[in-house]
Amino acid sequence: MFNLVKGTHDVILSEADKYSYIEQTFIQVAEFFNYKEFRTPIIESSELFQRSVGDSSDIVRKEMYTFLDKGDRSITLRPELTAGIIRSIVNNKLLALGDIPVKAYYVGPCFRYERPQQGRYRQFNQFGIECVGVVSPYRDVEVISLCYYGLKILGFKNLKLVINCLGDDESRTNYKNVLRDYFAKHLDNMCGDCKERFKLNVLRILDCKDPSDQEIVKNAPRIEDYLTPKSKENFDKILKTLDNLGIEYEIDRNLVRGLDYYSDVVFEFHYTSSKGINYGALCGGGHYNKLIQEIGGPKDIEGCGFAIGIERIASVMNDDNLFADIDESLDCYVMPLDISYQNKAIEIATTLRLNGFKSDVNLEGKGLKGMLKKALKFNTKYALILGEDEVNSNKIVVKDLKEEKQESIELDELISYLDQKESEDCECHHHQNEE
Ligand code: AMP
Repeated sequence: MFNLVKGTHDVILSEADKYSYIEQTFIQVAEFFNYKEFRTPIIESSELFQRSVGDSSDIVRKEMYTFLDKGDRSITLRPELTAGIIRSIVNNKLLALGDIPVKAYYVGPCFRYERPQQGRYRQFNQFGIECVGVVSPYRDVEVISLCYYGLKILGFKNLKLVINCLGDDESRTNYKNVLRDYFAKHLDNMCGDCKERFKLNVLRILDCKDPSDQEIVKNAPRIEDYLTPKSKENFDKILKTLDNLGIEYEIDRNLVRGLDYYSDVVFEFHYTSSKGINYGALCGGGHYNKLIQEIGGPKDIEGCGFAIGIERIASVMNDDNLFADIDESLDCYVMPLDISYQNKAIEIATTLRLNGFKSDVNLEGKGLKGMLKKALKFNTKYALILGEDEVNSNKIVVKDLKEEKQESIELDELISYLDQKESEDCECHHHQNEE
């Protein structure tokens, strides 16, 4: 027996269906917003993340799975996907073609060496988007709204959009200077991490979760007083458009996010389940001014994106029973009553599948009762019984497991018989709806 590697988990059976459902929902929304899929490698050069996610981030400082490969290259399992997506956009010269914006979505696993806890894993899955070549604040709104509608379609209510503006370069330089002056006076009384953050990226101190540090953070100078008119104006436009779209938000001036590359608007969607469990951020994202250039792309091209954690979304949806609609039923279960009919059964199951009926076949020979039990376990609509009489007369018994009625049908007519039954079923639903 082998145990799971600490912090990892198997996603299997119905849980895997749920993950696919979440991913497919977001993929469809992204396609509706004219985003295209990007699949980039799980391994990238370590330097990519040092340059993008940033040397001062917790991720790069403590959480990366980094190793030397057999050719002595420093390789890292991606802790997030943005860096790889931008690298890919730059390498493939998608921006040089002048095709901006490049609108990319992605889905896949990420790796962070974090302390495992409720909803936090060392291998987890993200869906996300990047819009590269943002020249208008309304693109930022588009990115935020895509995330909002994805969550809405999944059934989330009472979402809290938490938003902040980190300002452009000039705003941030001015702000960081006053922050440094402020925190320099308090640093002796702050945690070790903050002392480190002070050296690497003073903005990160605003993110500190240490309660006694939070008192000091509360009285720190505020970014809003140092925003350039342009940053301020853009942020106001974003907020006003969110108002018009009916997306409620709360401004949190201490929201800086854990990755170094953000500037101007940053956001998270927070959610508390109906059981009162606060899951914190379901997703996070924001605007980035310098990232593309940092990764070797053209100057002055800006982007915006977000990532959601599939694990976190799934556990909230489990808590709040938002998965009700997933259909796990089977149309047909073919049951040969003797081993010698199995080849016939396989042929029938194949024909059913090719005609659009989700089907399985029993090859385990457990007798009629045992097979029916299995059919019920699979939530089957029609059990198809193949006994001696049927084989001899080229027929099959179709047992409707819901109505508990059965009929013997010519094999040649099986598909048209089932089609007919299905369309009656639909009409019946239709009439019920009308009533
Ligand atoms: P980030 O890339 O840090 O902005 O994270 C985006 C989202 O990914 C978060 O809001 C979480 O939902 C999810 N996430 C981040 N880290 C983990 C983790 N260790 N385990 C599970 N989900 C995570």
